[in-house]
Amino acid sequence: MYAFDYHRPGSVAEAVSLLQGASDARLLAGGHTLLPTLKQRLAQPSDLVDLGAIAELRRIFVDRGSQLVVGAMTTHAEVAGSEEVRAWVPALAHLAEHIGDAQVRNRGTIGGSIANNDPAADYPAAVVGLNATVHTNKREIGADAFFTGMFETALADDEIITEVRFPKPDKAGYAKFPNPASRYAIVGVMVAQTGGQTRVAVTGAGPSVFRLPDFEQALAGNFSADAIKDLEVGSDGLNSDIHASAEYRAHLVKVMAKRAVAAS
Ligand SMILES: Cc1cc2nc3c(=O)[nH]c(=O)nc-3n(C[C@H](O)[C@H](O)[C@H](O)COP(=O)(O)OP(=O)(O)OC[C@H]3O[C@@H](n4cnc5c(N)ncnc54)[C@H](O)[C@@H]3O)c2cc1C
Repeated sequence: MYAFDYHRPGSVAEAVSLLQGASDARLLAGGHTLLPTLKQRLAQPSDLVDLGAIAELRRIFVDRGSQLVVGAMTTHAEVAGSEEVRAWVPALAHLAEHIGDAQVRNRGTIGGSIANNDPAADYPAAVVGLNATVHTNKREIGADAFFTGMFETALADDEIITEVRFPKPDKAGYAKFPNPASRYAIVGVMVAQTGGQTRVAVTGAGPSVFRLPDFEQALAGNFSADAIKDLEVGSDGLNSDIHASAEYRAHLVKVMAKRAVAAS
């Protein structure tokens, strides 16, 4: 039986104080991961703190012409359909448009997705590939420091993601090989060039999102699929499960990287 207290605060400050005042509180965003977890009794929190009534967490805007700001409670459908996102970084809108199905896109949020850090989630590749910054009620966390392992992040227990800030890339592309049932990434690759820096971020293939330094080096001099055609990806440490072997995932990383460059 479920036994938790439900709260619906109107501000981030109120949500933080509810988190700090409870013995084992959990934040609720779209609920697409958390509710199944509760149903399976894999989590039994004392309190659920629903972020759905905090308007400041659900917005998209370009801040002073230098950063695209996506609030933590913005749904995937809102990112996919946003004129601001499409103008700033079309690859991000494309990524959001291909998450799950319509129900998932209308409930799931960017904050919930990156806080959960599922190894097969799409957004971690965007955050790392586009060198975004994750803002919380306490601090700013750079993309490379945010994702720390499978379902693990740098967030503290009483820390709430408020928004994600994306610099404007000169070029960016995302390609994924989706699981045909869930659309989660068997492998997804975001490539981007931003202010002279080249990034290649891979999701789905390993326990957590990772970068490919040799691909980045090759693309820095020549941002074309041809520049990476002779590079190989090792299968050591990659995920192997009922969906795909580590060797198949290694092969897909290169194929998706080439497609992402071609799409940029
Ligand atoms: C059938 C199905 C298919 C899917 N397919 C895809 C896919 O193709 N690609 C993909 O990337 N994802 C996919 N997802 C995941 C989905 O898109 C959601 O992003 C994901 O479930 C988490 O987001 P949420 O808003 O539902 O978070 P919730 O389930 O509400 O929360 C998830 C976790 O994040 C924490 N949290 C939530 N918000 C915050 C915050 N602001 N600050 C700190 N912690 C927070 C919660 O406490 C919880 O631990 C799929 C999900 C389902 C059910």
